Amino acid sequence: MHSIQDLQKKLASGEATAESLAKAALDKIESTKNLNAYISVLNERALAKAAESDARRAQGKSLGALDGIPVAVKDNMCLEGTRTTVASKILENFVAPYTATALQKLEAAGAVIVGKTNMDEFAMGSSNETSFFGPVKNPLDESRVPGGSSGGSAVAVAAGTVPCALGSDTGGSIRQPAACTGVVGLKPTYGRVSRYGLLAYASSLDQIGPFGSTVADCATLLSAICGIDPNDNTTSTRPTEDFGAKLDAGVKGKVIGIPKEYFGEGLDKDCKAAIDAMLKKMEQEGATLKEISLPHISYAVSSYYIIATAEASSNLSRYDGVRYGYRSKEARKLFDLYAKSRSEGFGKEVQRRILLGSYVLSAGFYDAYYVQAQKVRRLITDDFTEAFKTVDVIASPTMPGLPLKCGMNESDPMAVYLSDIYTVSLNLSGLPGISVPCGMAGGLPVGLQWIGKPFMEADLLSVAAATERLNK
Ligand code: GLN
Repeated sequence: MHSIQDLQKKLASGEATAESLAKAALDKIESTKNLNAYISVLNERALAKAAESDARRAQGKSLGALDGIPVAVKDNMCLEGTRTTVASKILENFVAPYTATALQKLEAAGAVIVGKTNMDEFAMGSSNETSFFGPVKNPLDESRVPGGSSGGSAVAVAAGTVPCALGSDTGGSIRQPAACTGVVGLKPTYGRVSRYGLLAYASSLDQIGPFGSTVADCATLLSAICGIDPNDNTTSTRPTEDFGAKLDAGVKGKVIGIPKEYFGEGLDKDCKAAIDAMLKKMEQEGATLKEISLPHISYAVSSYYIIATAEASSNLSRYDGVRYGYRSKEARKLFDLYAKSRSEGFGKEVQRRILLGSYVLSAGFYDAYYVQAQKVRRLITDDFTEAFKTVDVIASPTMPGLPLKCGMNESDPMAVYLSDIYTVSLNLSGLPGISVPCGMAGGLPVGLQWIGKPFMEADLLSVAAATERLNK
């Protein structure tokens, strides 16, 4: 599939119609079914929306920024009248009664949603192996995972079924699968995109964001979905922007922070070499590299897994077998109904997280774990604030190494948790981050993560676009 920009040209010249693009996307989804990137394919709905777009164009009506463009969305976002499963048995047959704000905006811009993508159950995971609907395969190497939890959205783009997709990122779930599959993935600043209609995992960390095969496409998608929403009072009052405005600006004069804690032990040497080579090119383009320190960063993963699981244990208490979702047929008493519905409906990883979260919130442990983790969260945020006093943007690997081998979720869950080492701190501090392809290691793409100041996505996208040009 071409980029959004290419497709827009084809639509404008009449070489393609929204219907022909939707059909091509649906055919490609069918021919790449073995990758298991989609949970639901919305054939009829997509063709109807495409016909509406074609009619708008034929009648000379004003067109949205994404008119006629096929898009895939992660299956944790509600789309009225369609199944929204969060890849869990507990919501296997749940039909959303309303549409998430981000998807409403996407459709208001004319996008054609072709399907709901596979993911780790409740967005918990980094390998896409915890889905009730089976794992997603990495099209670049099927012995390795595509990353998670938005692996389906990343693969939907990487396999060419759609030019762009939406995912959600609580601890790395957009950036990490983007790195594993060689596409671009952006986590916006917390509050930039409404979470209304996003099935919550950890509400103080969750953020919706775009995947694209190019940086420009991510900018287009972000411009379409961002903005204040009365239904989500954590959304920012900042006006929406054209995030593509600075893509050609280059890196001349920019000061790039290199956290010393990020480039030492634990980083695969081939990945490091690819990133170092890119940073050198940036220096030749007129950027200055400056070593910085993020002294509390080594506590990021532990505090993330306390805060994320604590919030998850609370958010997921609504799935009780009473109001909606899976209900056990075995239960005879009320307590049994809760216990059996939840034990049968949630997968192993989700249960592990709920147990962990309930534990860190329980009397006697709350101060030792939850309160401590919140304090560490503040220290990490302060580290970034301090660093940004002297640099414009921070460079980091997206992942510590190549995409993990399949099966590690079972054999070594700790290694899977640790693959989030470079991404979770941005969710803890609310900062925006983007993963862009940057060279190869072991025949697979390496992701370079750019970290920006709060709400400076336009600058971040500008540096990412420079990376893309230098990567050619
Ligand atoms: N891998 C992390 C977790 O399992 C992040 C997931 C995400 O960003 N949704 O919690």
